Amino acid sequence: MSDDLKKGRIVIVGASLAGLRAAEALREEGFTGSLTVVGDEPHAPYDRPPLSKQVLLGQATADTTGLPVRRDPDAEWRLGVRATGVDLLAKRVLLEDGESLPYDRLLIATGTRARPWPDAEEAALDGVFTLRTREDAGGLAERLAAGPERVLVIGGGFTGSEIASACRELGLAVSVTERGPAPLVGALGGTLSKLAAVMQRNHGVDLRTGVTVTALNGNGAFTGAQLSDGSRVDADVCVVALGAIRNVEWLAESGLAAGPRGIACDAGCRAFNMYGIVTDDVFVAGDVSRFPHPLFGYQMLSLEHWGNAVEQAGVAAHNMVSPGPLRRPHLSIPSFWSTQFGLNIKSVGVPTYSDHVVIAQGSLEARRLAMVYGYQGRVTAAVTVDMAKSLDYYRHLIETAAAFPPPPGAADRAIAADIPVPSLVPDPSGLSHGPTVALTGHLPDRRLTVV
Ligand SMILES: Cc1cc2nc3c(=O)[nH]c(=O)nc-3n(C[C@H](O)[C@H](O)[C@H](O)COP(=O)(O)OP(=O)(O)OC[C@H]3O[C@@H](n4cnc5c(N)ncnc54)[C@H](O)[C@@H]3O)c2cc1C
Repeated sequence: MSDDLKKGRIVIVGASLAGLRAAEALREEGFTGSLTVVGDEPHAPYDRPPLSKQVLLGQATADTTGLPVRRDPDAEWRLGVRATGVDLLAKRVLLEDGESLPYDRLLIATGTRARPWPDAEEAALDGVFTLRTREDAGGLAERLAAGPERVLVIGGGFTGSEIASACRELGLAVSVTERGPAPLVGALGGTLSKLAAVMQRNHGVDLRTGVTVTALNGNGAFTGAQLSDGSRVDADVCVVALGAIRNVEWLAESGLAAGPRGIACDAGCRAFNMYGIVTDDVFVAGDVSRFPHPLFGYQMLSLEHWGNAVEQAGVAAHNMVSPGPLRRPHLSIPSFWSTQFGLNIKSVGVPTYSDHVVIAQGSLEARRLAMVYGYQGRVTAAVTVDMAKSLDYYRHLIETAAAFPPPPGAADRAIAADIPVPSLVPDPSGLSHGPTVALTGHLPDRRLTVV
């Protein structure tokens, strides 16, 4: 049985980070059968984090962020072709060119795409961008290098904030609009988002919070935007950074549990069907997945984290070629990083799974700190600002469900001096962008299902 699993036909849909790492891991795990990777982008797998950082700053070009290949996955690459469906019974992936690929086991790694501006005509104005692909980044970088008068960034999540930071580094005038009370509030909660707002304003960003953009103006080319408070921002470039949409539409007829929050799977990366029955030949990895995590109340997590895509791809690949008792759970602690306005922000755990926070090291004034998040008396997350060295310590506290507030340990001053304050994690339905890690079951403090 176990030998059979190392043979046969495996199809991976999604030729990006999770798809590539899974393909490599399958060979490392001893899979000798045929492997086909389908991707709708025409490119070999490339890395996205540099697209909002080095590429916008002109330190790298968009076509140079190709992902390093750790070992040749000896796969047939079907690039530039979209998968349009899956027939679970016939075990075939349908392609847009009419072909269908038979599989014994399938891995779905179709990730997310940028949420577009809702008005298609306004979105088509010259100078309006989203940022997800190599093409997006190349086009935007070119426009920024040409020295626009002002850039408008809609949405103060991680991507929007990184774009604003890059603009300021390039010496460009930039306005950021955020529907919530501060940038990054959806991901990091109330206290740290206040620091994010201070950092943006100190760096010269025209930050408008508590407002939405009601219309993009222009006649052919973008000239500015109307805001919900009646004001207007004149700008010649606009970046719509309203979060991501999971690429699941192609699975609508498949019978899999695929919806706006992703494809539900078990901790072993096996997809659920629409009745909640686990499949045994369809696996999921990366941004498109949602999976239960025992440390966070078994809630289903949707992550948009580079590290999660890599780790989950490894677990999925292992389980695809291993018999039941040898399968592994995907239980790693979510982690994420961002660089913006000269700060190095790192997060472990699920900050939105919290009711209180405490500053365990450093201070807001020093702009160097470790903030620990707790839920019902135990540590569930930590975020460091320019203090990444401490992160492993806090990861350990999360893994061991340590008591919150944490005892003095790695802390450089007595925790007892700090008083936990409410984490002020907002209701995600009120934000203009989503957090990069979302609970897709009940929120900690409310009986609310997020759809
Ligand atoms: C600008 C930017 C900055 C980021 N910065 C950070 C960061 O600082 N830190 C961090 O942790 N994470 C960051 N991320 C997130 C990180 O890049 C993602 O978590 C990672 O790319 C997820 O990989 P994935 O393979 O799951 O999905 P994706 O990278 O989204 O890849 C999915 C692939 O599948 C393809 N596809 C979709 N549907 C189909 C279909 N039907 N048929 C065939 N192919 C299909 C897509 O076109 C895409 O190529 C950033 C992302 C962006 C866009």
